Amino acid sequence: MKRIPEPFRIKMVEPIRMTNLSDRQLALDEAGKNPFLLKSEDVYIDLLTDSGTGAMSDRQWAGLMMGDESYAGSRSFFNLEKEAQRVFGYQHVIPVHQGRGAEQVLFPCLIEKCQGENPVFISNYHFDTTAAHVELNGAKAINTLTKEALDTQAYYPWKGNFDLEALKSQIDSNGADNVAGVIITITCNSSGGQPISMENIKSVSEIARCHQIPVIIDSARFCENAWFIKQREEGYEAKSIEDIVAEIYLNADMLTLSAKKDPMVNIGGLLCIRNDKALFQACQSRCVPMEGFVTYGGLAGRDMEALAVGLQECTNEDMLNYRINQVAYLGERLKEGGVPIQYPTGGHAVFVDAKKFLPHIPAEQFPAHALANELYLEAGVRGVEIGSLLLGRDPDTGEQKCSPFELLRLTIPRRTYTNDHMDYIADALIEVYKRRDQLKGLDFEYEPKILRHFTARLKFVS
Ligand SMILES: *Cc1c(COP(=O)(O)O)cnc(C)c1O
Repeated sequence: MKRIPEPFRIKMVEPIRMTNLSDRQLALDEAGKNPFLLKSEDVYIDLLTDSGTGAMSDRQWAGLMMGDESYAGSRSFFNLEKEAQRVFGYQHVIPVHQGRGAEQVLFPCLIEKCQGENPVFISNYHFDTTAAHVELNGAKAINTLTKEALDTQAYYPWKGNFDLEALKSQIDSNGADNVAGVIITITCNSSGGQPISMENIKSVSEIARCHQIPVIIDSARFCENAWFIKQREEGYEAKSIEDIVAEIYLNADMLTLSAKKDPMVNIGGLLCIRNDKALFQACQSRCVPMEGFVTYGGLAGRDMEALAVGLQECTNEDMLNYRINQVAYLGERLKEGGVPIQYPTGGHAVFVDAKKFLPHIPAEQFPAHALANELYLEAGVRGVEIGSLLLGRDPDTGEQKCSPFELLRLTIPRRTYTNDHMDYIADALIEVYKRRDQLKGLDFEYEPKILRHFTARLKFVS
């Protein structure tokens, strides 16, 4: 596979500590066999997340110096507002500290607006914090992902799509009055950073709008999704990423954005609303006690300045070509080595199919988490489980929810690791694959009630 070289040169480096096996054994024991609890100092290559871990550009760093730290009405806020309006075409802009800040401000307002008694949100797939905010506010999170996404081995270009029939039947069975919003997650993080086609986005939007249901775009990787549309969807080959992004957002009424992903800041997010002024005002009122005053929302002026520049840079096609190629290259190397992955690879990560990798470990012993532990021991590489451990229990029954996937996510931070690092990761995981029969499942030593995967402690089953 052809590698696309880095469209940047390196201006500053951060040395990383090299560890040996006994260092890593000790560190993992202290972390309760949960890589989330490792110190990043004990990690050689950190693929936990692409969130806030990218390398900012020189222009973004310059933006940090230019930040206006006024409490209210800072120049940096107006720069950010202008860029957000330009990129998304929505009138109302509220900065927030990160994506979940937008969720905690918006969802209660949407639930209050909802006519029905039993509010639900329907999504292609709710991201974990998104589902948590839906549930914390007493609503239900329903996923209607295309069945094509479940077969990790079969090529399908749009594994982030909604199953449109499932969406319609969920609206009917819950009653449109109870649907507080339809959330389009682009790209669909939980199915493997998989894209949604423009055609699907348009159909979802039409279905929601004919029932007067608000459409929200959960936007963390909107540029990567636009890149896939340009590559794969007929009629978009010649369009710019910016034009495709603008077309996507015509199909929704509001957006939540974790700016720690595509816009490449270390912290920050946005809540934007097209033109519903009453909703905007309700969100502003909630923003003040939750996130901070409406022109900073938990961010410093310098953070808003770096984000404004990030919104200019994130649609750059050379960068997206390189970025998504780097992810695909790691995927190809693993596939060649026999490792089962979600195929084709998505935008920000390679998802290893742990159900297939470790068929002898049942879902309730968290095969993908077992694999994350072993990869760390092998090479100091930290990945993360996306499966039963992350999904958690049904809030009503306390039963483990049945996860459609058991995936190990190897998330690639933007502009941070080189293609040589990708080879190192692939070699390590292929080594683990050769001795996969010896791996063991895990059980809880401590299980938190909500978002348990972040702080759980586990032990190997004997
Ligand atoms: C990261 C993410 C969020 C939450 O954003 P944070 O910045 O981590 O709070 C929401 N939705 C999706 C799809 C994400 O990837």
